Order: sequence, then C-alpha cells, then structure tokens
Amino acid sequence: MGKKRPVTIILALVCAAALASGAVYGALSKEYTGSFTAMDTYNTVKVRGADAKKALSSVSEITSELDTALLSRHSDTSAVNEINLNRGGRIPEELAPYLDTLFEVYEKSGGAFDFTLGTLTDLWGIGTENERVPSDDEIKKALALTGADKLDYTDGKIKFPEGISLDFGAAGKGIALDEIEKEFGREKISRAVVSLGGSIMLYGSGEFTVGIKDPRSAGYMAVLTLGDCFVSTSGNYERYFEKDGVRYHHILDPGTGYPVNSGLAGVTVIAPGGTLSDALSTACFVLGREKGETLCKEFGCEAVFVYEDGGVYATDGVKDSLEITDDYYRAEGVK
Ligand code: ADP
Ligand code: MG
Repeated sequence: MGKKRPVTIILALVCAAALASGAVYGALSKEYTGSFTAMDTYNTVKVRGADAKKALSSVSEITSELDTALLSRHSDTSAVNEINLNRGGRIPEELAPYLDTLFEVYEKSGGAFDFTLGTLTDLWGIGTENERVPSDDEIKKALALTGADKLDYTDGKIKFPEGISLDFGAAGKGIALDEIEKEFGREKISRAVVSLGGSIMLYGSGEFTVGIKDPRSAGYMAVLTLGDCFVSTSGNYERYFEKDGVRYHHILDPGTGYPVNSGLAGVTVIAPGGTLSDALSTACFVLGREKGETLCKEFGCEAVFVYEDGGVYATDGVKDSLEITDDYYRAEGVK
C-alpha cells in the first residue's frame, strides 16, 4: 500500500476555514459546534438559532442514516446495496429527485460523471486495503460494466445488466446536505455551516468565507466570500496511492477507466444545491476547465479550477469573490 495523506486532518482544516467565517453573524444567539464521522469522512457543524442544539444531532443522524439505509454500496442494510445485488429494484421515494439530478449531470457531462462506476471503483480499490493498478484487460472488462445509459429507469423502478454496480460516492455528501437543508427549513435555524468531507453547505443570510484547500499542503490556497450556497471540491489529493512514482487517485475517467490526468489538482463548484455541487465538482474534474465551465453554465453554477502548476481559473460569477492567499498560485485567464 502506498503512502496516504491523513485525509481526516486535512478535511478538518477545510472545515475550520469555513467555520471561522460565521463568527460575524448572529452574535446574539449562541453558536453550537460539533463534529462526527460518517460517510467515511470527518464532518463538522456550526449552527445558530433557537433549535441549534437539536440541529447538531439531526445533522449527524441524517448523514449516518442516509449512508447506512440508502446510499452506501458497502452497507448490508442499504437500498443501493440491495438494488446492486438484485440488478435493480424500486428507487426509494426520497432518493428519486436526487437520482433525477444525477441522470441529468450524467447526460449533460457526456458521461464524465457516471454513478455506475462501482465495479471499476472496486477494481482499483483506491482508499481501501485492496488498492492496486489493474491490468489494461481488467480495466476494459470493468469498463464494459459501467454506463448509466445501460440502466432502465421507469415508473420508479430501475433495472440493469448483471455486473453493473451503482456508486453514489461522488454525490452522497451533497445529497446529505440537501436533506439537512430541508430539515433546517423545518427547524428554527438562523445560520449554519455544515461540512461533510469536501462538500459544504452555507445556510442563512449574510456572507460566509470558505477556504479552498491547498492541494500541496495542509493549509489553504484561496478564500471565497459567498452568500448561502453549496460548495464542493473534488481533487486528486484526497484519496490516492502511489506506485513507481505515479499517483493513482480516486476520480476515474469513465472514458479510459484510469484516474483522470488533466493537469488539474482540484475543482471547487458553487451551486444552489448539494447534490449538484458534489456531482458537478467530480464531473468538472474529469472534463477539465473548458468543458467543465460549459457544464457549470448549463446548470447556472460557478467553479474554481486549480492546476497542479499553480494556475487558478475562476468562472465569471466568482472571480471577484476569490482571493488567492498562497504565493505558489496565480490567477490565470483561459488556458
Ligand atoms: P470525495 O468522495 O472524496 O468527496 P468525489 O465527490 O469527487 O470525491 O467522489 C469520488 C468518488 O466517486 C470515488 O471514490 C468513486 O466512488 C466515485 N467516482 C470516481 N470517479 C467518478 C466519476 N467519474 N463519476 C462518478 N463517480 C465517480
Ligand atoms: Mg463529488
């Protein structure tokens, strides 16, 4: 097994940046903070409002429950696991709107975001004790068992050929944030920052500042100042292993079956919904700057593309909200 970064610590720092920002607002109401582990990552909550204390537990309950009961491929009790075992089944009602969004991102991204990569993901095993570089032949065979276009989804039921495995890994945290937003709408919450791994929900009025993690170190390379929205980052530095000097990371190109190698280190997407920001950040990482920007435009979303060589490109809607704070990085025009 290759060397891995301490993922949880890095994510904790990302969260800390997001959280530090909320301090200006709501000085009158007490702020509650909490952290928990779910969906395989370290998550944090900072919340104000009459129901703030209660919200702390709702957030962790919603996230854990979504994972174990619905989304995780590796939970014996999840709907997705059962659907994978049975090559289909009824899509739980609460999942249906999110699945619609994922289909839409799949189609509009030309398959760059593909929630049927489970078999390919398992083959690479990145982030697990089985991680290895598969042979070209193995990759070819696994690729034949991917593609959301192979799914038959009608009247709330899904059907697919044997060997295909649904994998919501690239959108699960975003789906959880959307569910948490709904719950906050039912509770008395004035302001909150919820950070689930690389996806963050900024909830409430006023401004927030969010740090974009430096792909090369544990700190930040830039700060975004934003209103309420969802911010997701996908990068090649989150989960990976190295073999013979090559980094193999966890975002796979559904076209080749290999980890994406586009010169990008990370992409941050700013969207009105969590499912959308999470799915689009993965899609943009695969597509690269040009196609990624076009895709974001189609969804009315913004993005920041960070290149390995230090170039940073922000779409028009967030250019003025971005402040680069690390000297290695520089704002660039179109590449
Ligand atoms: P993270 O899970 O670290 O937040 P992402 O949101 O980018 O990062 O999701 C990466 C995960 O999504 C992978 O671990 C894998 O399960 C799955 N995945 C990898 N490549 C793709 C892809 N091209 N489209 C959809 N899902 C993917
Ligand atoms: Mg994602």
